[in-house]
Amino acid sequence: MHDALRRAVEERRDDLVALTRDLVRFPTVNPPGEAYAPCAEFIAERLQRTGYRTQLIVAEDKPGHTSRYPRVNVVGRREGRVAGKTVHFNGHIDVVEAGHGWSVDPFAGVVRDGRVYGRGTCDMKGGLAAAVIAADTFVALCPDYPGAIEISGTVDEESGGYAGVGHLAEMGLFSKPRVDHVIIPEPLNKDRICLGHRGVWWAQIETHGRIAHGSMPFLGDSAIRHMGAVMQAFENDLFPALAARRTDMPVVPEGARASTMNINAIHGGQTDEYTGLPSPNVPDRCAMTIDRRFPIEEELADVKAEIRALLDRLKRDRPKFDYALTDVMEVLPTMTAHDAPVVQAVAAGIRAEFGRAPDYVVSPGTYDQKHIARIGHLHDCIAYGPGILDLAHQPDEWIGIDDMVQSATVMAFALHALLTGATEPA
Ligand SMILES: [Zn+2]
Repeated sequence: MHDALRRAVEERRDDLVALTRDLVRFPTVNPPGEAYAPCAEFIAERLQRTGYRTQLIVAEDKPGHTSRYPRVNVVGRREGRVAGKTVHFNGHIDVVEAGHGWSVDPFAGVVRDGRVYGRGTCDMKGGLAAAVIAADTFVALCPDYPGAIEISGTVDEESGGYAGVGHLAEMGLFSKPRVDHVIIPEPLNKDRICLGHRGVWWAQIETHGRIAHGSMPFLGDSAIRHMGAVMQAFENDLFPALAARRTDMPVVPEGARASTMNINAIHGGQTDEYTGLPSPNVPDRCAMTIDRRFPIEEELADVKAEIRALLDRLKRDRPKFDYALTDVMEVLPTMTAHDAPVVQAVAAGIRAEFGRAPDYVVSPGTYDQKHIARIGHLHDCIAYGPGILDLAHQPDEWIGIDDMVQSATVMAFALHALLTGATEPA
């Protein structure tokens, strides 16, 4: 089957390139969420031409949605001849801003040296196009397949996916019995399977003080100095402890196999919006935003308790120290099992296409799989797609045409295995 699929995908190479270029020409920049509606409508029409029933789903009650920037998602479903499993390919249609430093028009879909250039080629319109072509190829070869194929183009992944996959998951579109297997063609490289991601906890820590004249700071109480004590405790105790932890999740890059925390921001005292000279005040408030990432071996409750214990210790030991700790966002880590059907099917496709076993990886940051796991309770989900992850969000972003063809072949192979139950020798 692999050889037949390979040849049939190859025959669609020009179609694959054309579809990628068409998608890149919609400047679906997020924020603010430009051109979502025409892009979703274009995908709907493309899917209808090959036998999908399509639905445009507008996330009207979600953050970011306005009449100027509507959050429009598209879902297509193509039924097979008889009942069976459903395989869903999900790609986000939003892209980050182009930024500076481009040598080509980022929204023209320039083809050069076997690559398609443009914002979103790699992350992840090339992957979405490859999924569409993979499905077309499979349908042409196995027109009487059982089950169903779904393809969705969703918004806002770059800003958390709440109006995109999150919204669709709340509607039940990423749950059994409607869907059994999900492949997200994010640019994880054509021979790697991404099983999931680490967890996230964002929080704000606030320290309090008392305002006084800056020439007599002993009459006040500096919230910034209290925050300095927090920083010192982080440096002395927390960061070494986090760095010493190692997860068994195959996170890439390697450095992210330790537990990590970033200090996103610190603000204290007068803002820098004044004109002239600042006035001399002891700062009475300082706030820090932290971004703590954790693997499946750590419980979210323990992650929070560790920080709280450190702050409580300061409260005991440091005169006048007081704090407030506020949750901002949390996402639990998720990792699909190696023996899950979708992992096995894509791994077999990679072995057939590349003659070797795939690398299994886990993402240091989250992506839309979080909504599918947490809201949809569907755990047969991976990210697999063409494109070199490091190129995402960069100037002169590109995707290799050969890589897209090979990835589409792997996806078609996986679709065949998952729907027909065919297993081929590795
Ligand atoms: Zn992406």
